[in-house]
Amino acid sequence: MEESFYTSVMACIEARKGPIPAATYMRFSFLFNGRELDDVPCALSLHRAGSMAVTDTALNAERNALLLQLDLTPQAFFACRQTHSRVVQCPDPDGRRQLYDADGLAGRAPALLSVTVADCLPVFLYDTVHHVYAVCHSGWKGTGIAINALSVMNKQYGTRPRDVAALLGPCLQRCCFRVDKERAMIYQNEFGCLGGEYPVGKPVYELCNEQGEQEYYLDMQAANIKLLVDSGVMNIVYHTNCTYMSDNLGSFRREGTHFTKMMALIGGIYGGRPNG
Ligand SMILES: [Zn+2]
Repeated sequence: MEESFYTSVMACIEARKGPIPAATYMRFSFLFNGRELDDVPCALSLHRAGSMAVTDTALNAERNALLLQLDLTPQAFFACRQTHSRVVQCPDPDGRRQLYDADGLAGRAPALLSVTVADCLPVFLYDTVHHVYAVCHSGWKGTGIAINALSVMNKQYGTRPRDVAALLGPCLQRCCFRVDKERAMIYQNEFGCLGGEYPVGKPVYELCNEQGEQEYYLDMQAANIKLLVDSGVMNIVYHTNCTYMSDNLGSFRREGTHFTKMMALIGGIYGGRPNG
C-alpha cells in the first residue's frame, strides 16, 4: 500500500493571540499529517519567568522554578554553552555532564533538552517514528543548524525527514529584523538563492522607505522553512509572534543589555520535583 504524506506548513493562529495572562511559559504542540501531537513536552519560557541564562551549571533557581511549573522532572536536564554555531550534540543520558558546547541538542526520553533564545529562532524537531527530538538555537548566523540536527538524528537514531514534525517558535520576525545591507547580502547569498519555491516567502526582503532609502529585513522562519522542506520535512508549524513586539517575550533588541533569555525546551518526563 502506498503511503500518503502531504506537506503542511502552517502558521499557528492561536499563538497570535499571545500567551495566557500571568503564564510563565508557552506550551507548543507539533502537527503531523493533520494531527496534533502532545507526545513530547515542548515549551518556551516567557519574559516573566526571568532570564534563563546558563551559568557554570545547567540548572539554577529560575530554571528549577520553571521546570516545576511545567511539572517536568529536572533529571537528565541538558543545556548548551551557545556561540551562534551550527553544532548539534547528543547528550550522554547516563553521563553526569549537563552542559554542552553546542547550539542544538538531540536525544530521546528521558532527556530534557534546552537552549536559550532572545530574538533568535527556537527550532524544535520531533521524529514521530523513533521518538527522537531536538531543539536548536537558530539566529541569523546559525541558520542551517536545524538541518544539522536532522543529520545528527539520522546518524544516531535513523531519523527520516518525512517522519519529522518541525515547530518554529516565536522570534524576531521580519517586521522588526532590519539589518544593514552587508548582513542582508550574506543571508541572501546563503539562503536566498536556493531555487524553487519559498513556502512562506523569501529569507530577505527589501523595501524603499519614505526617505527613499533601501531597507533590508531578514525572515529567519522563511529561511528555515525553505531548508526544512528542501530536506524532506513536510510537517511544519511556525509561530508568528514577534519577540520585539511582545512584552511577554524576551528580546535583545527591545530590552538591550539586560535582556531576558528565554528557555526553549523539549522532552523530559512529567512529574517535576524541585531539585535538591
Ligand atoms: Zn516585529
